[in-house]
Amino acid sequence: MRRQAVTVLGATGSIGQSTLDVIARHPDRFSVYALTAHRRVDALADCCRRHRPDVAVVATEADAVRLRGLLADGGLATEVRFGPEALVAVAEAPEVDQVMAAIVGAAGLAGSLAAAHAGKRVLLANKEALVMAGPVFMDAVCHAGAELLPIDSEHNALFQCMPAGYAAGSRAAGVRRLLLTASGGPFRERDPATLADVTPEEAVAHPNWSMGQKISVDSATMMNKGLELIEACWLFDVPPEKVEIVIHPESIVHSLVEYVDGSVLAQLGEPDMRTPIANGMAWPERIDSGVGSLDLIERVQLRFEAPEPRRFPCLALAAEAARLGGTAPAVLNAANEIAVAAFLDRRIGYPAIPAIIEGALAAVPPVAVNALEEVLAADGEARARAEELLVAHAVRS
Ligand code: NAD
Ligand code: MG
Repeated sequence: MRRQAVTVLGATGSIGQSTLDVIARHPDRFSVYALTAHRRVDALADCCRRHRPDVAVVATEADAVRLRGLLADGGLATEVRFGPEALVAVAEAPEVDQVMAAIVGAAGLAGSLAAAHAGKRVLLANKEALVMAGPVFMDAVCHAGAELLPIDSEHNALFQCMPAGYAAGSRAAGVRRLLLTASGGPFRERDPATLADVTPEEAVAHPNWSMGQKISVDSATMMNKGLELIEACWLFDVPPEKVEIVIHPESIVHSLVEYVDGSVLAQLGEPDMRTPIANGMAWPERIDSGVGSLDLIERVQLRFEAPEPRRFPCLALAAEAARLGGTAPAVLNAANEIAVAAFLDRRIGYPAIPAIIEGALAAVPPVAVNALEEVLAADGEARARAEELLVAHAVRS
């Protein structure tokens, strides 16, 4: 079999690093075409030394000059490019077979979409791209004949529980509903009266998964599950009312598909993203991911409970955006990105996150999405409204 050439968008992040770990275990199967990072030039230089990509991409010209210097010292022939156009170029390059879309947030949209338009195998971790631009993204996948493989652990679990020959984006026959599991994050049992005092350090301390900062805060608010609800609707072509969210604090059952005959199929495993990554990269084959065996005896108990709506107001906001459709999910996502960044910067308190998202949803009425233009306009408008709302919610220092 010919080796698969891979571009990793967001190589220095949590998913990017897990992807490179899987690639390094299978030099006979995978080669690295391009690695990208935003500003972490030293970390990207390390990745380049280990994985020797043809191309490396950073954000700015100054970053590129510095990376070239670092790589020249090691005698590496990697070509260094910079800027958003370079990100798109390495996602759609003819040399590339698979693109790991692992940039966080709306910044990942252009690269993820370019990979879809170019008909690549798209390993989708960047859920925000699908949430904001669902109709455009799925159209691109369909028209270009791209292979869309979900990397988000829940969606990868659902994909694995679908009938043989199933392709993401289509509706599987006989499915009654999808059950998305959620850990409940670090505040599942915290006294709601103290949520106003939550610090960024507490919010990013996830009990089961080690992830980037933004998705860790999204897990604490459960906006992550809200985004995943919308993601599931696009990936599996189901309406939002067919997706149920279940808190499962152990993060062992990654999600479940219920069929009309009452059968419920689940995918289980240790909480380690290398499993869905290896699954997507090798599909339909199975390869070693480095993840060990699941010891069910050791795990003793697997619990399931309903999320409390008052503790997790972001869930209802996301469900409403899913119901409204059009540009509403793009507005939800953009306002969330602004609010989470401001919370991590200590500009607003934790309870202001849902308040700002709710305000932005009210301020930017949804319109139908026919093309990327409407999505980008709604994203920009929502960011502007959310920035205004930050002022009203600013913490006094
Ligand atoms: P991270 O913060 O660890 O890494 C983000 C990567 O994106 C970094 O390489 C960074 O350099 C790059 N990046 C950030 N801003 C950029 C910009 N403006 N332009 C170009 N590149 C930029 O994030 P992560 O936890 O690896 O998550 C990545 C994506 O995968 C997110 O969409 C997240 O929701 C999704 N995801 C992550 C996990 C996980 O376990 N970490 C699980 C499921 C889904
Ligand atoms: Mg997930």
